[in-house]
Amino acid sequence: MLPVSEPIRCLSMGISIEGLNKDYFSEGKRIRALDDVNITIPSKQIFTLLGPSGCGKTTLLRCIVGLETPDSGEITIGGEVVWSSKKGIFVPPEKRGLNMVFQTYAIWPHMNVFDNVAYPLQTRKEPKKDIIKKVEKTLRFVQLEGFENRPATKLSGGQQQRVALARALVAEPKVILFDEPLSNLDAKLREETRKELRNFLTELKITAVYVTHDRVEALALSDAIAVMKSGKIIETGSPKKIYFNSDHQFVADFIGRANLIEGKVRVVEESYAIIDSQIGTITCPKGPDTAPGSAVSICVRPEFIKVMEKDTREKRNIFRGKVDSLVFVGDAYEGDIIIGDTRLFTRIESTLDISKGNEITLFFDPDHCFVLSK
Ligand code: ADP
Ligand code: MG
Repeated sequence: MLPVSEPIRCLSMGISIEGLNKDYFSEGKRIRALDDVNITIPSKQIFTLLGPSGCGKTTLLRCIVGLETPDSGEITIGGEVVWSSKKGIFVPPEKRGLNMVFQTYAIWPHMNVFDNVAYPLQTRKEPKKDIIKKVEKTLRFVQLEGFENRPATKLSGGQQQRVALARALVAEPKVILFDEPLSNLDAKLREETRKELRNFLTELKITAVYVTHDRVEALALSDAIAVMKSGKIIETGSPKKIYFNSDHQFVADFIGRANLIEGKVRVVEESYAIIDSQIGTITCPKGPDTAPGSAVSICVRPEFIKVMEKDTREKRNIFRGKVDSLVFVGDAYEGDIIIGDTRLFTRIESTLDISKGNEITLFFDPDHCFVLSK
């Protein structure tokens, strides 16, 4: 047996993608799967591609791995160009030092845990002694020590997921790629496995490219998120930047429930813009798009809209509205509040005594709203 402390070796590498395009042709129609994709994926980070189904996430991952050939552009992994249309370079998948975990974990049901994990090393014809050592070490890392002889079919969903991870890690890849690996797990297990996966990947300091359409998963797992739509990268940033201060309406809407309020900037005072909006005057942090006279969309998340029970000294962003619908969801009420012609979606404290039809006073902190770029 090896000492527990022996680390899994990991030579993380960054990835850079420039001007990548990929079209498919189906039933005489052209489908633009990747449209001038440019991204830099730093080494040792969990980088997530997030977007709705069909936006090109899997295609991009398959191009990085080398299972799909782009039409044009360049892919560099750890400083080495692995694909370039201009330079005529194509490094085959097995020489790219990557490994991929798929949506269906594709572990083999007729093999036990050991053989599943050992498979990539056996195909490389590594000596048996080394294989045993590496498999044991990896199983210990994913906390499946002692499961070596268990048939793969006799594992829970979460354990199967860990076998898939162990099989991807055992060959010591420089980058690990995941295509919606948790989508087959039920909600509770998905949450646990997500946490576990983040711990594993952070501990390994491996570069991970993770694909999901699930915004909460993206926020919980990632160091950086690239939001995709129709083959394009719309915005890249940290989870907090994307959630609290996104530049784009599509991103703000996709990453969480968002109220978008139209308005026109009246004046800018110190750090704040004063905006005449459809619900009244809004004070919002100023930014590059808040010159006086500009038309703006202001984003306020439902959880930041509060009910004001008694008068406070706060004078900004206070609005009167009527409760149009109210649903108790345990930790909160989810309610639609009508202000003038505008409907705001809110998450209100579930301990408050309010009901449908009530007139209430709402407020939100000026620092809890932001202006989207036009
Ligand atoms: P995602 O993983 O984000 O759901 P995909 O990368 O699988 O999206 O697909 C992007 C677009 O390309 C979709 O419109 C999809 O239908 C299309 N597509 C993907 N693979 C093929 C293929 N082999 N042939 C034709 N069209 C494809
Ligand atoms: Mg996909």
